[in-house]
Amino acid sequence: MARILAVLLILASPLMAQDYAKLRVIAFGAHPDDCDGRAGGLAAKYAAAGHLVKFVSLTNGDAGHYVQGGGTLAQRRRAEAAEAGRHIGIEYEVLDNHDGELLPTLEVRRQVIRLIREWRADIVLCPRPNDYHPDHRYTGILVQDAAYMVTVPNVVSDTPALAKNPVFLYFADRFTRPQPFRPDVVVAIDEVMEKKIEMLDAHVSQMYEWLPWHEQKLAEVPKEPAARKQWLAKQRPSRVPPEWKQALEKWYGAKAAAVEHAEAFEIAEYGRRPDDAEIRKLFPFFPEK
Ligand SMILES: [Zn+2]
Repeated sequence: MARILAVLLILASPLMAQDYAKLRVIAFGAHPDDCDGRAGGLAAKYAAAGHLVKFVSLTNGDAGHYVQGGGTLAQRRRAEAAEAGRHIGIEYEVLDNHDGELLPTLEVRRQVIRLIREWRADIVLCPRPNDYHPDHRYTGILVQDAAYMVTVPNVVSDTPALAKNPVFLYFADRFTRPQPFRPDVVVAIDEVMEKKIEMLDAHVSQMYEWLPWHEQKLAEVPKEPAARKQWLAKQRPSRVPPEWKQALEKWYGAKAAAVEHAEAFEIAEYGRRPDDAEIRKLFPFFPEK
């Protein structure tokens, strides 16, 4: 009996080791550049370490421009997202739901459940459901609504349910009602900051056209590609927000002082609740204590 147990343990050990050796991460945004700004650095770090990351945009982005629109804009943005993903070695999928019209329907909830299951996700990222943009809010709601259902076999029964509930985390945001964002996990991204800028630079229709137009600073954007990329890099503040400092120190100790760029995430109440030891395995970037 003891021998059988020993053999079973030996057979199972590579599987158990694999649990954290190749993490599977999926991030949901409402629009084809949303995940990039919130978690592009984290994704680049995972990808560089051999983990698997997928970004999903729940809408096709066909409202995000002042002169273009419809199918032509959706195709342009799908191509930009694919290019952004290529820069850091991740998958990028853009669903064909209309931009500006996303609703937390059963149909889209099923799309989200399928995607999380098919990716066999360990970690799921999404916006909080407090946001200025209704598409962002409903993306948060849709992922929350999927957080338990991904483990229920009779829901979306054409795609096998997950045996282990993933850990769900929210992107950072500045909204304070009903409660402000809580930085549970803060990850330094200095060494991949250039990659993150390259990723954002791929979203030409947004970074250099739609967003500056909407902020009435289109005239500021340089025409030449290298110059406009430099301009884009300058738009990203290099200082870690003061309200993230304590969490940064928790994970990085004395090394926190040298960190310039970071991304922060809040652990959702739904899905699996990891303790600090598991967070270190799920985010294998922190220095040893
Ligand atoms: Zn957006």
